[in-house]
Amino acid sequence: MTGVTELGYVGLGVKSLAEWESFAAEIVGLEVCDEGEAGRRYLRMDYWHHRVFLDEDGTDDLAVLGFRVAGAEEFREMTARLQDAGVQVQVASPAEADERRVLELMKLKDASGHPIEIFHGPQVQADKPFHPGRRMHGRFKTGYGGLGHLIQAQSAGFDKTYEFYRLLGMRGGVEYRIPIPGAPRPLDLMFMHCNERDHTVAFGLPSAKRINHLMFEFDNFDDVGLTYEIVRRAAIPIAAEPGRHANDHMFSFYFMNPSGWMIEVGWGARPASHQSEYYQRDTYGHEGLGGPPPAPARAAAVAAE
Ligand code: FE
Repeated sequence: MTGVTELGYVGLGVKSLAEWESFAAEIVGLEVCDEGEAGRRYLRMDYWHHRVFLDEDGTDDLAVLGFRVAGAEEFREMTARLQDAGVQVQVASPAEADERRVLELMKLKDASGHPIEIFHGPQVQADKPFHPGRRMHGRFKTGYGGLGHLIQAQSAGFDKTYEFYRLLGMRGGVEYRIPIPGAPRPLDLMFMHCNERDHTVAFGLPSAKRINHLMFEFDNFDDVGLTYEIVRRAAIPIAAEPGRHANDHMFSFYFMNPSGWMIEVGWGARPASHQSEYYQRDTYGHEGLGGPPPAPARAAAVAAE
């Protein structure tokens, strides 16, 4: 079955472009590009024109996910499959595709009504190597695994959400079943993959916003340590201490971005496994994940160091 091959880009709505520009470059290490479009900045992490676009629209939330298909033929197959399944699909105009720097683009909504774009043919700037926003030991790990992964909110329920992302060609299921003291049921988290990355989209963590966190992977372990030090020095709230996930084996930590949701940076993930299994907790660490970030305590502790 033709499927999406990667999470190619994400669009984020932000309150302050200025805050995001310095956060993206100086804290995360991304390259910020201004193409002269009012209220819009692009973030690069490899040879692609962009992997993230920021629109200063005041929402401080996820605006759109952009999934790639292999080429024109797969694009048409995907359009037909979605339409046959009763999904409303709008094939975008050439001008809209140009704006995203892709050859062809379609727009639709997932089972919970969240905007999705499917495209083929991203603009790859082979003549413009990635230039990190601050020093890095290595680089961001993208390649066939796409830009990273995210946990997003869903209101349609796991079955309908699974059905929709299965239609896009993804596979997956529940990978964590976390006992919650005093709750009648454990907390289930569902993870979907479309390439060698363990998961590209996941669902189930409570979140006031459409996005819980966005993960970027480094190809060098020391970039996790370096980023941790930079985040602490900047007194940015750490939402989960370093630890290793049981499902993708990623060694990572989580910190807050200027929009009030989390960025995860990690290293050392294993490829997607193709048989289901579940975990009740992580391998180790990640204290604070799921709970409110200890912002004032953390900031005070850093200030006192
Ligand atoms: Fe994650």
